[in-house]
Amino acid sequence: MVKTMAINAGSSSLKWKLYDMPEEVVVASGIIERIGEKDSIFSINYNEDKQLKSTVTITDHEEAVQMLLKQLIELSVLTGYDEISGVGHRVAAGGEYFSDSVVVTADVLQKIELLSELAPLHNPANATGIRAFKKILPDITSVAVFDTSFHQTMDKVHFLYSIPYEYYQKHNARKYGYHGTSHKYVSLRAAEMLDRPIEDLKIISCHLGNGASICAIKGGESVDTSMGFTPLAGLTMGTRSGDVDVSLLPFIMEKENIKTIAEMIEILNSESGLKGISGISNDMRDLKAVQATDERASLALEMFKDRIKKYIGSYAATLNGVDAIVFTAGIGENDITLRKEISEELSFLGIEIDEEKNDCRGKEKIISSETSKVKVLLIPTDEEAMIAQDVERLKETSVYS
Ligand code: AMP
Repeated sequence: MVKTMAINAGSSSLKWKLYDMPEEVVVASGIIERIGEKDSIFSINYNEDKQLKSTVTITDHEEAVQMLLKQLIELSVLTGYDEISGVGHRVAAGGEYFSDSVVVTADVLQKIELLSELAPLHNPANATGIRAFKKILPDITSVAVFDTSFHQTMDKVHFLYSIPYEYYQKHNARKYGYHGTSHKYVSLRAAEMLDRPIEDLKIISCHLGNGASICAIKGGESVDTSMGFTPLAGLTMGTRSGDVDVSLLPFIMEKENIKTIAEMIEILNSESGLKGISGISNDMRDLKAVQATDERASLALEMFKDRIKKYIGSYAATLNGVDAIVFTAGIGENDITLRKEISEELSFLGIEIDEEKNDCRGKEKIISSETSKVKVLLIPTDEEAMIAQDVERLKETSVYS
């Protein structure tokens, strides 16, 4: 059986899923956390319901990969390393270089590292993950799958900021968008579920998790999306502010004695959004638990919903209509009330939710009524499956090992 590994490497973590391909059956999955610390956590789910969890010391990503592969053999999930035919890596920023996933070459790896200025927290970690697997499995095809590449179909009207044009020419200062793998996956699934060619569809995809973004998709291509040069822009998120008037920043910096723009940006990334407004938590479940009695939790939830509605309305205008709205990610897949309220408060678009069908979590389902002009779909995202599919698609073209 041919197996493919999908990897999402963070600076101190490594999330992975192992697939039997081309069937796309998950044979094992897991996460290694706190890499580089004494008490790293190593967990594997395998044989459907078995779990192994241990606390060990893992000094770096290379050791993490080594330990992972060794464990998979010890648990008889793998008979040998040669059973793995490809490894796909999630990479945050692909800049203007990559409009599709690519087989990793030395040049690709160099570009991923160069693009660290766009995603300083993510790209270096992604590159570390790629290098660790390359070192241990040098002959296996390695594929990079970028969060930005799906959005490379945006045109200048949508990806440029209204600032001096030479900043784009000189520095590639523009919108890139993120969550592309998720938006692509759910839009393809939506077309299949609606049994319509994706080429004919106008879809608005709402990826609502701790990070959140909305994407306008026409004929299977991203036309516009709410995240920007970095993932800070767009919707109110768990800890990120989303869109703000940038003139507010020097004003707050002066009043609050914030010394550097880096500190200010950190506050917008980590102390804002649902967390900043509520003063309680970035986690939707925490806020829902107290919304009846806590004014600021309730306000945060209303603001979150308001920004989602604004982007859906705006993208319905961009697309000059919409056939389907998709809800995905932690909040989109699980928050029944939010989906209902958004749909009802956008009824002017021709959206009619079926409350019974909507009473559901984490399952693929059309949740609008039969007569609804705009279809509403609940689709659990699966970025790892998309990564595995891209490895399968590209491994035939591999020229580098
Ligand atoms: P993600 O980043 O996609 O893992 O999504 C995380 C977000 O999903 C957090 O804000 C969670 O509170 C939220 N979430 C998970 N389960 C539920 C639920 N049952 N209702 C509302 N939000 C949920």
